[in-house]
Amino acid sequence: MPSPEEVLHILRPRCHPIRLSLVVPMCNEEAAIPILRAAVTSFMRDLPVEPEVILVNDGSADATLVKVAEWAADDPRVKVIHLSRNFGHQIAATAGLDYATGDAIVLIDADLQDPLCVIHEMLECYRQGYDVVYGQREAREGEPAFKRISAWAFYRLMRTIVDRRLPVDAGDFRLISRECLDGLRQMREQHRFLRGMVTWVGYPQCAVKYRRNPRVTGSTKYPVHKMLSFAWTAATSFSILPLQIIIVLGMIAGLCGIEEAIRAVAALLAGRTVPGWTSLMVVTSILGSAVLISIGIVGQYVGKIYEESKGRPLYLVARTFNIASPAEPSPRDRAARAAGETRESQG
Ligand code: UDP
Ligand code: MG
Repeated sequence: MPSPEEVLHILRPRCHPIRLSLVVPMCNEEAAIPILRAAVTSFMRDLPVEPEVILVNDGSADATLVKVAEWAADDPRVKVIHLSRNFGHQIAATAGLDYATGDAIVLIDADLQDPLCVIHEMLECYRQGYDVVYGQREAREGEPAFKRISAWAFYRLMRTIVDRRLPVDAGDFRLISRECLDGLRQMREQHRFLRGMVTWVGYPQCAVKYRRNPRVTGSTKYPVHKMLSFAWTAATSFSILPLQIIIVLGMIAGLCGIEEAIRAVAALLAGRTVPGWTSLMVVTSILGSAVLISIGIVGQYVGKIYEESKGRPLYLVARTFNIASPAEPSPRDRAARAAGETRESQG
């Protein structure tokens, strides 16, 4: 049964997309590229649609750029965006989405943790009329227990803090339709939590369950401190719950203060005023630290406003390979435009 948050959509079945874009952000993945290249090339061979691969080199310090440039030189379907420095996974993925020209776009990792064969199931859902098809992990193979537990907690916490509609155990591995992507591309916030943004955009969404593989090679680029910082970005860029928590804590502290005041007055009236130094010190220090934490949280939001107000671009592109222009229209747009022009010339 759908949850009360789920909007009822009437699906409009459609045919296969004309072009499918695979967007792959990558940072220091030189070891994974030959394996990725073999897997993607064989995947594209039996694809019923025209494929396009967008590789985003997110400021790698190893030979990633050299390898992706070689791949692009051998295969014109492969396009490379080389960012001017490391901007982080979410922004690198955004750059790839900006340059994608497909009618359906799939975001994958370079480490092949998300099996490419699942994309066939995603395309099937796309044909049924879904605009977002996210991969939902049934199992995570080969990941340390800590990573599994922290990921489990992350998704449940994000659902509570960010959005009740946020699917659990679903990362950025997902298919997005052109319509949905056009909505997503209008959201240019600096602090990005793409999964939350895709949920915000709406449209008919569904899940495809799959087993997540271990990394083919190399190590995760999301160690614990980055996971925590990502969770904090997600919480503060999507929700004002931390600010609301401060208000509730402030009220609780206020009630404790009133209780203390009543006790102090009662002690004064009874002539017992000297004892109480310890409790006074405890309350003062707890309140002091609560005030500082609260200012810190408010400061985080003010900092975000400050960064947004600068209006900087999300990323800078140092170089591209096999790309004519970022605004290249999708085949469907081109077809629609051509049909419009024909109608005008007839009319
Ligand atoms: N990545 C990136 N920029 C970064 C960190 C990661 O483009 O600053 C890429 C990385 O190369 C990979 C994807 O983002 O293709 C997901 O990272 P990873 O697989 O390390 O994360 P995990 O799957 O362990 O959460
Ligand atoms: Mg990975």
